[in-house]
Amino acid sequence: MKKHIGYMLGILLAGVCMFSGCTEQRELAKQQLAQKEEKDRYDTMIFGMDTVMNLMVYHKDGESILLEAEREIHHLEELFSVTKEKSNVAQLNQQAGKASVPISEETAELLSIGKALTKETAGAFDMTVSPVVKAWGFTEETHTVPTKETLDSLLPLVDAEGLSIEKTSAYLEKEGMAVDLGGIAKGYTTDRILALFQEKGVESAVISLGGNVATMGTKPDGTPWKVAVANPLQPEDYVGILEVKDCAVVTSGGYQRFFEENGKRYHHIIDPSTGYPAESGLLSVTILCPNSTRADGLSTALFVMGEEKALEFWRAHQDFEAILVTADNRVVATKGAAKGFSFEERDHDFTYEVVEE
Ligand code: ADP
Ligand code: MG
Repeated sequence: MKKHIGYMLGILLAGVCMFSGCTEQRELAKQQLAQKEEKDRYDTMIFGMDTVMNLMVYHKDGESILLEAEREIHHLEELFSVTKEKSNVAQLNQQAGKASVPISEETAELLSIGKALTKETAGAFDMTVSPVVKAWGFTEETHTVPTKETLDSLLPLVDAEGLSIEKTSAYLEKEGMAVDLGGIAKGYTTDRILALFQEKGVESAVISLGGNVATMGTKPDGTPWKVAVANPLQPEDYVGILEVKDCAVVTSGGYQRFFEENGKRYHHIIDPSTGYPAESGLLSVTILCPNSTRADGLSTALFVMGEEKALEFWRAHQDFEAILVTADNRVVATKGAAKGFSFEERDHDFTYEVVEE
């Protein structure tokens, strides 16, 4: 996964430095522009929310803006972490079935978005799946295959309806219930960073929070950003390149976090209706959407849904685009996603299809 991010940013960065000119004058103007861009270009790598984050911004005050962004990331991590004892989420989980706990405005907002998404996706996305995620050992990285009895005993605790959210407090109605914001927290954090950039007057930026990519504006030379869509079978390689501007590109895939036991692979995206890692016939789902929180939540949800339901959901909503990579080696792009996507026919066995409607 780290490689994947590095690779994507590699392409983004490579794109930024590509200049070509025809006449000498134009060449000079371009060189001057390039020098100015280089001067105003700031980037940083941060470790937060259990992942590597890369931020790049074009602005004369880029250095201080990135420092503020870093503070915001750590601030949100302190609120959303499921393992940091003092976080809003950990407190909420500890007090499940006992008491309502005070939460920050940001936590209230994200919990509300998550709960609405459960309704919208008919339970494919459900942050109260946490007790099950924990039973598989994905929370503390103590991987183990739980028994069917264990999972059956935990499934009644998976119910977003049992979470009540007020403006400054929240409550889980049954003891043993818990929430895990892992499926949307990076997306939300991305949106907060972009809001900060906007406030500071940034017009061109690209950030990647553990593979959750978001782009602001275009590259300084006016051309779109390039983001690679990983080959889930060889994540350091890619199946194609997306050209985007002002858009989040978020991928969920079983290849991103998994363990193996007795020759079988178990990944971290759980089907809340069974308690088992989703086996929906998809290897990955990439969502393109102006809103990164939504892109993050939907990438998880559509991965659980599988191709047919995912495309049905896309037809019904139309506020995002998607690229699905299927277990039977097809890359399926919705028509809006296909517009900026160059499928790479290289040394992989995938075929490409576009869904028009
Ligand atoms: P990543 O965190 O690798 O980017 P996702 O955005 O798909 O991947 O989120 C997966 C994380 O979300 C899991 O690690 C777990 O914490 C949580 N999760 C797993 N299954 C679900 C689900 N069905 N709905 C909501 N959250 C989930
Ligand atoms: Mg997600």
